[in-house]
Amino acid sequence: MSGVTLFVPRDSAALAAGADEVAAALAAECARRGMAIHIVRNGSRGLLWLEPLVEVATPQGRIAYGPVMPEDVPGLLDAGLLQGGAHALRHGITEQMPYLALQERLTFRRVGLGDPLSLDDYAAHEGWAGLKRALGLDSAALLHEVTHSGLRGRGGAAFPAGIKWRTVAHALADQPAAQKYVVCNADEGDSGTFSDRMLIEGDPYQLIEGMAIAALAVGATRGVVYIRSEYPQALATMDEAIRRATAAGWLGARMAGSDHAFHLETRQAAGSYVCGEETAMLESIEGKRGIVRAKPPLPALQGLFGQPTVINNVITFASVPVILARGAQFYRDYGVGRSHGTLPFQLAGNIRHGGLVEKAFGLTLRELVYGFGGGTRSGRPIKAIQVGGPLGAYVPESQWDVPLDYEAYTAIGAVLGHGGIVVHDDTADLARLARYAMDFCAIESCGKCTPCRIGSTRGVEVIDRITRSQGSQRAQQVELLRDLCDTMLQGSLCAMGGMTPYPVLSALNHYPQDFGLAPEGATATAQSTAA
Ligand code: SF4
Repeated sequence: MSGVTLFVPRDSAALAAGADEVAAALAAECARRGMAIHIVRNGSRGLLWLEPLVEVATPQGRIAYGPVMPEDVPGLLDAGLLQGGAHALRHGITEQMPYLALQERLTFRRVGLGDPLSLDDYAAHEGWAGLKRALGLDSAALLHEVTHSGLRGRGGAAFPAGIKWRTVAHALADQPAAQKYVVCNADEGDSGTFSDRMLIEGDPYQLIEGMAIAALAVGATRGVVYIRSEYPQALATMDEAIRRATAAGWLGARMAGSDHAFHLETRQAAGSYVCGEETAMLESIEGKRGIVRAKPPLPALQGLFGQPTVINNVITFASVPVILARGAQFYRDYGVGRSHGTLPFQLAGNIRHGGLVEKAFGLTLRELVYGFGGGTRSGRPIKAIQVGGPLGAYVPESQWDVPLDYEAYTAIGAVLGHGGIVVHDDTADLARLARYAMDFCAIESCGKCTPCRIGSTRGVEVIDRITRSQGSQRAQQVELLRDLCDTMLQGSLCAMGGMTPYPVLSALNHYPQDFGLAPEGATATAQSTAA
């Protein structure tokens, strides 16, 4: 390829910020000036406040400029963009930018390096190494490898992936020809989260490789990637990646030239939050209304179309290739306690440097939101941080030094969930946010069980009465809200109703003044309230 290589992301976040227009402006202006360039549309590096982030390949390495607007292009070229020249938008060598250099990227190590759909780029950067090793192992050895790595589901429940896979592998062992499925839950609906989308748009073959390894481990021959309808770019990228991987022989009747078949397809979700719950997702894939199934039976035994099914989310499957390629112990050595490996945290909300930060478990919220995030975008003090999506707790400053690992967060009545971090400054009204949590539950509830269906609507009403009443009447309503949350925690069929009390009670416990209450005496966590 002749000319200087420029990289302009085609990730949705970059496109929303005008990446297509910037790529067009670069092509047109360079053509007008007779400058030979070659534009690669790569994935996003995850420094979202700098999108569109343009990089230029130089002998010193890739130099980053951003955020670049189409009108910046002539000035950048005047300043010597193609040679990495000085400019107000220049950030130096991309890999040396502290936001990237301080990360521990395992799952996202390739994202942003090249064209996400290029099979050559993928192979050149350790692509298929995990699958190739997996093809030489039997099911027991594969299951041991994934179990020993300590990988837990990254979708929220944090269930050990190896144990789930083992259940599927051993299901219907007396019927070797039984149909088994591998299903990827890419219905990423949590507020402030985007790691699934970024991974699919930036490195789709890694997800394919992880699902193929899962298929080998459990004996599945068919797989489905269930992608939320709000992600058209991710859906199109995944469809094209599956088409190319199949054409190249990595998928299909003889996966990677082996005797194993693995056929993969996508399914577009229909816009319901609760379809992120695994059994509701299965209903949706089967063409039915997305409502939650009672368990048992476990989906591992009777999942898609009643057959044994591995269900994991995007980041879980995408973590598998590096485990196989570099060994379980390599992955296990990252993290703390029983939280092994890394988690791609997503910094969002009122934050100066929003984006994706992949780090080993064990760093703190303070390190994330100040060290990487740079504090609030508004410049005001941070008041509350919601961790783990719309059903996650609001974490107050007194807990910002708790290590980010599954057990430590459980101990404070919070959850890591899918790694979404949403920052609020001191203008936030936590009573309003608690009300929003109940309202969100009322809107998204599938309606199957009473604590969630009715409780969430009553919850909105009770919070309204708390904020409008005074004295003993207010105290009565607070008691009622705690009772209601207890019922939802204990009596809901799935996490939708069962976790809505987390944001509500954490707001009430840690920010009582926002409910018109005196600060003292309301310190129980969601879990201790439920106990
Ligand atoms: S908790 Fe809510 S979403 Fe879950 S099954 Fe019950 S009604 Fe449906």
